[in-house]
Order: sequence, then structure tokens, then C-alpha cells
Amino acid sequence: MLNLVLFGPPGAGKGTQSQKLIDHYQLVHISTGDLFRGHISNQTELGQQVSKLIADGELVPDSITIAMLEEEINKNRGAKGFIFDGFPRTVAQAQALDDFLESKRSNITGVIALDVTEEELTTRIAKRKAISNRADDDSEKLKKRIEEYFNKTIHVLPYYEEQGKLTKVNGIGDIEDIFAQIRQIVDRLTS
Ligand code: AMP
Repeated sequence: MLNLVLFGPPGAGKGTQSQKLIDHYQLVHISTGDLFRGHISNQTELGQQVSKLIADGELVPDSITIAMLEEEINKNRGAKGFIFDGFPRTVAQAQALDDFLESKRSNITGVIALDVTEEELTTRIAKRKAISNRADDDSEKLKKRIEEYFNKTIHVLPYYEEQGKLTKVNGIGDIEDIFAQIRQIVDRLTS
């Protein structure tokens, strides 16, 4: 299996690059943000539980997020592999993912971290706001999301670095150039 984590702050381009990776490697895309938004628009019980946290730009508790992710992996038993986008966002989530994959005799192949400055992120999300209709792209909420990233999510990087799985890619530049770099990394991981 080819299991990739696409890592980076809000607005780093994870969604865009994930889409390209899925098309190229035929992987199943798991975006916890998309899953939560699906629950909210379908007004499920889970959606009701998490909607305020998401609207406020705060992280959803690990227990809820991990359970939802595991269910999604289980739904895709025949998959060649997965792209995890927006997960893990805490060290506890990273550990839970490792344990869960190990129980299925699998593991994370590699982690690609998109490196983007805070200034660039703010500009990008302001542009995205105009078309995305996401309440959490609002400037105050965005500030909170970036804060959550630098307080909690950034600690996931050393976790994977210690495992020798982390590769950083400059996330500023032409989308195709960034994708070409990611492809090179993935091809090296699988050769
Ligand atoms: P995203 O689309 O990845 O930016 O996620 C949107 C929002 O969903 C985040 O700001 C969090 O509130 C929530 N969320 C998504 N993924 C996670 C996660 N792995 N852990 C906790 N909360 C998450």
C-alpha cells in the first residue's frame, strides 16, 4: 500500500496537491475537513456535535476525529493506498493512525509537508474566501485555525521526522512545479 500524509497549514495547497496525487496514483483521498463538512451539511449527529468547533476554527477532539477516520479507512478495504489530508493534526492522532495501520499490517509510506509562510497563507485564504463559502475562512476564524496549527499540529512534524518519513517541499510557486517535486519524492519512496 502507498499511504501518504499531506501535511501543512490551512491554505498550504493540501487540497489541490491531493487531487493531483489521487489522479496520478489512484489513491483514496481522506480529508477529515471534507468529511466533517459532509456531516454538517447532512445534519448528522456527528455534524451537530462538531459544527460550532469548526465554525470557530478550533480542532475537533481527537477521539471523535480518530473514530471517523478509522471508519473511513474501513469503508475502503480494496484501496491501493490513501492520501491523508488534514489528518493527523495532533501527535495523538498520528500515533492512533500508526497503531490502526499496523493492526492492518500496513503503515505510513511517507509524509510530505508543504512549507508556506504565514503571510502567504493569509493572502491565499483571503482569496479562497471569495469563492469557497467557508465561514471558517473568515479572518478571525482563520487566525484561530493558524494558531491551532502552530500550537498543536506543528508537533506532528518531529514525530514523523524521528521515523525518517518526513520530506519538506516549498509550497510557494507554480502548482505543477510543486506537484513535480512531490511526484519525485513519492516515486523515490516506492522504487
Ligand atoms: P480543513 O478542511 O482540513 O481545513 O479542516 C476544517 C476544520 O475541520 C478544521 O479547522 C478543524 O476544525 C476540523 N478538522 C479537520 N481535520 C481535523 C483533525 N484532523 N483534527 C481535528 N479537527 C479537524
